[in-house]
Amino acid sequence: MDLGLNGKIALVAAASKGLGRAVAEELAAEGASLVLCARGNDELQATCAAIEKAHGVPVLGIAANVAEPADVARVVQAALARFGRVDVLVTNAGGPPAGTFDALSPEIWQAATHLLLTSVVELTRAVLPGMKAQGWGRILNITSISVKQPVANLMLSNSLRAAVTGMARTLATEVAPFGITVNNILPGYTRTERVVSLAEAAAAREGISAADATARWEAEIPMRRLGEPREFAALAAFLCSERASYITGTSVPVDGGWIRSLL
Ligand code: NAD
Repeated sequence: MDLGLNGKIALVAAASKGLGRAVAEELAAEGASLVLCARGNDELQATCAAIEKAHGVPVLGIAANVAEPADVARVVQAALARFGRVDVLVTNAGGPPAGTFDALSPEIWQAATHLLLTSVVELTRAVLPGMKAQGWGRILNITSISVKQPVANLMLSNSLRAAVTGMARTLATEVAPFGITVNNILPGYTRTERVVSLAEAAAAREGISAADATARWEAEIPMRRLGEPREFAALAAFLCSERASYITGTSVPVDGGWIRSLL
């Protein structure tokens, strides 16, 4: 299938590693030019160079913290200065701290709100006028399985990603007449650096091995294994593509069957 992504300009946030990077790789493999951001410049530039070399597409890396609206504006300005437009926006950020309600101070809530919700609002605000003017756009938010089935001890993720989902569903209706789709993609347990370090932290806390901590997650997953970033990125690329032109307002999991609900 030709996804129709060749020559499109895609901005992927928080993409120096993990899920964001995997999505960037898949879009590059389809011929899209990229703008990537992450906080640490060295790792970001190394990722950009590797993708450029592997796929022969231009990749611009701008060091930025997506929780800071001024940084977000700077990234989008740099994208427009280099490529003239942004066709595809993939929002993403680092995960918020774990914890139950009692463990989370007002400051932690506020920081997580900036990281998970404000980042999506500001990235969207910055790219939407151009997408509307050209009558074509794709916005894809990386959220989590926690929006369909809350995960114990992840109060911040469960709450704030639900807010992103509400915003996206509302925006999808508002911008559909402009040829812009807005969707969410929900990773389940996927083998990224973050998940490996979560397993190591759980192991250290409980005096078990990291393999045992991972095995406990795998036992909850019908596929009995973690997902691979590439498996996640395949759906992401499709949802960003020309071929997904009639899919909007949805939240689609890539979770090996972890979510047990019917819809
Ligand atoms: P990761 O730690 O492997 O990668 C995160 C990327 O985001 C890195 O490139 C990092 O530099 C960048 N980043 C972090 N904070 C940033 C910020 N404030 N501004 C700009 N860039 C920033 O994580 P991942 O596993 O790829 O997860 C990505 C998102 O998906 C997270 O929000 C995570 O909570 C969520 N998620 C992941 C899983 C999973 O199993 N991997 C499951 C559900 C949800």
